[in-house]
Amino acid sequence: MDDCLFCKIADGAIPATVVHQTDTVIAFRDIAPQAPVHVVLVAKRHDTDAVALAKAAPGVLDELFLAAGEIAEAEGVGGSGYRLLFNTGADAGQTVFHAHLHLLGGTRLGPLA
Ligand code: 5GP
Ligand code: ZN
Repeated sequence: MDDCLFCKIADGAIPATVVHQTDTVIAFRDIAPQAPVHVVLVAKRHDTDAVALAKAAPGVLDELFLAAGEIAEAEGVGGSGYRLLFNTGADAGQTVFHAHLHLLGGTRLGPLA
């Protein structure tokens, strides 16, 4: 999609600190980290949110979660724990309307909301 930030990162048109990449998935450090480890995982295909991705290409969600597990281990938070979340829609705080999975860890995280 022409006007989508995460499509541009996936295409390499906008730089990011990439920590993991496959044919279908790319993961990069969040530009404004909310925890010591904050990685954003996206499918390279464009879908507006996680539910749209689930409907269009459900297997890709499996790939995102498996990649998140690998990244958590690589970042050293696999044992201590980490949070995985999809913000879905404006009221949830979604600001980039390309489905993405946040991986947060490296500290004791507070309660949601
Ligand atoms: P959302 O709020 O939509 O769930 O998450 C979007 C995330 O993308 C935010 O945590 C935000 O900091 C991050 N972000 C926004 N612009 C950029 C960027 O240009 N590069 C990177 N690496 N992250 C970004
Ligand atoms: Zn996109």
